[in-house]
Amino acid sequence: MSELQFAKSCWFSGFTVTNLSHLITLFILMESFPRLITPSSAPYDPVDLAKATQDNVCRRTDQARKYTAVYVAGVYGGIATAYAVGCPLRCIFCWVDDSREYPERRGRFYTPDELVDALWNVVREGYIRKARISGAEPTLCKAHLLAVLPLVEESLFESFMLETNGVLFGADADYAQQMARFEKVHVRVSLKAATPEGFQQRTGARGEAVDLPFQAIQHLLQAKASFHVAAMTDPRLMPATERELLISRLADLDMRLVENLEEERCDPYKGTVRRLEAAGVDVTSFF
Ligand code: SF4
Repeated sequence: MSELQFAKSCWFSGFTVTNLSHLITLFILMESFPRLITPSSAPYDPVDLAKATQDNVCRRTDQARKYTAVYVAGVYGGIATAYAVGCPLRCIFCWVDDSREYPERRGRFYTPDELVDALWNVVREGYIRKARISGAEPTLCKAHLLAVLPLVEESLFESFMLETNGVLFGADADYAQQMARFEKVHVRVSLKAATPEGFQQRTGARGEAVDLPFQAIQHLLQAKASFHVAAMTDPRLMPATERELLISRLADLDMRLVENLEEERCDPYKGTVRRLEAAGVDVTSFF
């Protein structure tokens, strides 16, 4: 992408740049922006990637954030779902559409009011009273999320599921602990690995960042927030020894986390297969 094309994509996505040096910095960031993870990809810092992605999907002026769609999904017995753009991880088993790799090109901005209205509009005529932000990483735009959740509390929705990889709740204790303020919010923290090697191999991020999601769990425990833990323990991706370590790390924090652990399996969606193959994984066992 040329600098001019990039400036245009910022403009068309609602992001205005008035400072040329800021534009050039953003351009350099986007040039090194991780897209598909391959065996030769350089590890990235997920908190830095979160910041680079925020510049494309979080609009400060009106606390808007980018989504690709709002619809009713069949999971959880039917739930109003806002499909968020942008994630600070690059899991090789990810099923999200290519807005994960190209957040500057995909989605449209919704203010907090517009988002809650859109969620309500897709269920208004039905019996569904559950909502969630899914897709990529719901916590990416802090101001947006902290403006959406009070609106959900005031709405006729009875519960709100917040599905997160825990990176930003791990890096920001206050952010995680604010979840306890909301009675309707239940957080689902999804772990990708338990060792630095496993984290780097399956997310492309620096291995030492493996501790961030565990820190998120600690912060949520301290705040007494409503949450449970999920983990991608599919044996085709995670060795049995690492699964045992993951369970033991959770047990050290609170045995109830193990009792309620939701273990995930990797389904061969089209995007998932593309990412697994790019990462050099033999996908035959996934069919
Ligand atoms: S699986 Fe979730 S955390 Fe991992 S890259 Fe996809 S959206 Fe992000």
